[in-house]
Amino acid sequence: MDLVLEAADRHLLTPYVYPAGWPEGEPCRQLLSLFVITNLGALALYLLFGTLSYYFIFDHELKKHPQFLENQVSREIAYAVRSLPWISVPTVALFFAEVRGYSKLYDNIEDSPYGWSGVFLSMLSFLFFTDMGIYWIHRGLHHKLFYKRFHKPHHLWKIATPFASHAFHPVDGFMQSLPYHIYPFLFPLHKVTYLGLYIFVNVWTISIHDGDYRVPRLLRHVINGSAHHTDHHLYFDYNYGQYFTLWDKIGGSYKSPTSFEGKGPHDYLRKLREKDAAAPNGIGASKKDPGASNGIRASKKDPGASNGIRASKKDPGASNGIGASKKDPGASNSIRASKKDPGASNGIRASKKDPGASNGIGASKKDPGASNGIGASKTD
Ligand SMILES: [Zn+2]
Ligand SMILES: [Zn+2]
Repeated sequence: MDLVLEAADRHLLTPYVYPAGWPEGEPCRQLLSLFVITNLGALALYLLFGTLSYYFIFDHELKKHPQFLENQVSREIAYAVRSLPWISVPTVALFFAEVRGYSKLYDNIEDSPYGWSGVFLSMLSFLFFTDMGIYWIHRGLHHKLFYKRFHKPHHLWKIATPFASHAFHPVDGFMQSLPYHIYPFLFPLHKVTYLGLYIFVNVWTISIHDGDYRVPRLLRHVINGSAHHTDHHLYFDYNYGQYFTLWDKIGGSYKSPTSFEGKGPHDYLRKLREKDAAAPNGIGASKKDPGASNGIRASKKDPGASNGIRASKKDPGASNGIGASKKDPGASNSIRASKKDPGASNGIRASKKDPGASNGIGASKKDPGASNGIGASKTD
């Protein structure tokens, strides 16, 4: 980070911003500069790559998925933008220690005992170390002591967009980035390589939320891609990893992505479309269709249903937890569980007694036939 600070000082801060008498090496000035640079840099990376990914990679079809929340994109962005300054506070403390010379970062390739091969090896070791660190920290954040308070906000997004990538509670966001910051204090690392890796990890984080589930066939069970991470958002207890599936396999939490097996969010949407095409009045049909076997009911009298999945006023008791009621003003996304289920964070909730909801819209015991896709988890 001192490379960035030096460049900012030389080209902008010293000539145009700070008073002439404030020396570049003064700690308060360094802290202030680092705070501004870190925030602007993180925001720029997030918004630039998030936007590119959202418009060029993210499949906007996914926004029709019933677990996609109303105004989700703006909510993801607002949450991330609110959290980033808080995440930056402890991050800046570590950058400051780095600038003051406490890390093992070095300037020139010649400073590495192994030359270019040392730089290459350090990149591999950085990826291995941070993958391992994030796995265990992420898994720890799923412990009942921490989950609700710190990590649950990130799991609000079941069908994430690239903008969910940085939408974390500040404690969660900092903890999961900690391995990146600790590494250069423990191991030698070339400064420019570190900057490159820092940009890479931010882009990777965006990529595993981009809804593009493709992974080269040979690497499908090696690389932790968007397909794997989507299942983490949907089913909680699997695929905690970041780049590789290695630690999930070691830790017993690996799950082959549902989208590789024809049961992912896209497959669910395809089935919905097929059902929609088969039914004369669209998904779930009308009030006169009390038997909608998958609990997806729409009513023409329910103008608020944004995705066609909504129970009518007269259907407060939709037995699969996807019932909406006008008496339930807190329903934020047209999909709501009953009042008896206060823990439902996004209105989609299944009964704990229904461990078998394999694919999506969790069903209660009374609706064992739900076969359509919104997963439930006792973790929620
Ligand atoms: Zn995520
Ligand atoms: Zn998680």
